[in-house]
Amino acid sequence: MKKIAILGSTGSIGTQTLDIVSKNDDLQVVGIAAGRNIDLLEMQIRRFSPKLAAVGDEEKAEELKLRVKDTNCKVVGGMEGLIELAVMQEAEMIVTAIVGMIGIRPTVAAICAGKNIALANKETLVTAGHIIMPLAKEHNVKIFPVDSEHSAIFQALNGENPKTIEKLLITASGGPFRGKKTEELKNMQVEDALKHPNWAMGQKITIDSATLVNKGLEVMEAKWLFNVDLDKIEVVVQPQSVIHSMIEFQDGSVMAQLGTPDMRLPIQYALYEGKRKYLDGERLDFSKLASITFEKPDMETFKGLSLAMQASKIGESMPTVFNAANEKAVALFLSRKIGFLDIYKIIEDTMNEHDLILNPTVEEILNIEQDVYQRIEGRW
Ligand code: NDP
Repeated sequence: MKKIAILGSTGSIGTQTLDIVSKNDDLQVVGIAAGRNIDLLEMQIRRFSPKLAAVGDEEKAEELKLRVKDTNCKVVGGMEGLIELAVMQEAEMIVTAIVGMIGIRPTVAAICAGKNIALANKETLVTAGHIIMPLAKEHNVKIFPVDSEHSAIFQALNGENPKTIEKLLITASGGPFRGKKTEELKNMQVEDALKHPNWAMGQKITIDSATLVNKGLEVMEAKWLFNVDLDKIEVVVQPQSVIHSMIEFQDGSVMAQLGTPDMRLPIQYALYEGKRKYLDGERLDFSKLASITFEKPDMETFKGLSLAMQASKIGESMPTVFNAANEKAVALFLSRKIGFLDIYKIIEDTMNEHDLILNPTVEEILNIEQDVYQRIEGRW
């Protein structure tokens, strides 16, 4: 029996993880955590009987405590509660499916407690990869990618020598606005940006897909996960989302992973640490698949990718600034306070104003995040 705890159990990745658990007798959920959605958390507690539930919002935690006092589940609240869950003795693996930099401290705590990680929370690696990866090595902790692109690379790497990687080819659907130019993007509304052509995901990552910020975050994530230089990572637009990413090796051979767009596959592959198991769901039907096409990303219009590359090249505290500015800008866009293109302006301006901090600690990263939030709030 493999025991897991899920940070972000009420979200898109979290609920799909629970779907996998419900179909496999050898998986057990011992802990779940969310931000505020205690209605769903309560249902999950009654369905999966975890020992511990953590709620980011302290008041909601108190409310949930009362609601589930007839169960054996302990309820904890706030960042301390998330950390208690991340280090809980019973859990062998922590699924980090929280959205945003709030995931950094629980992930660091889980690694220090020797827990293997199924990592969806890419913001953690983007901003603190220089801390997370050496820490994982020190504690002999394995990090299994949940992101479909990174899982594809992880799958294509099976049995290969990582030193023979020539290039990582990260595929992108191009998002809902592929082919549009700046003039057309000006008036795009929240509803338009939330219409992803292929994947059903949480709101923040869906907006990040429309701006191509998500692809930028994935490039940075890949750099840390696979220890590959930035100039060896290329983004290829593949609008049908059939190829989930590829590796080109030193001999020119390219290995790709293909499948229907179903996040449960990479989640399951991570939960079973790279072992294959049956998974229900749609299969690729090559007789119906008319074509798989490729394009170069339009990095001039979709500045999310170029700004991310720039932040990653500069390194140090700049990826944190990029990520925090994007988190705030996306929240403002979702609450309809700014337009779609303002997301790029906010990220660019914030990066231009930043005084670089070398090799930032977790404390410094979190301070930069707050500082960036405040700056943006004061202006928009
Ligand atoms: P969702 O928005 O669907 O879910 C986010 C989860 O995080 C929810 O459970 C939410 O709880 C929880 N959460 C938010 N704020 C807090 C907080 N302050 N304290 C505790 N929990 C909190 O996001 P996704 O599932 O789409 O994405 C999760 C992560 O996975 C992101 O980093 C994303 O980039 C990555 N990812 C997602 C993919 C997808 O297909 N969705 C694909 C690849 C990567 P509540 O419901 O209470 O708000």
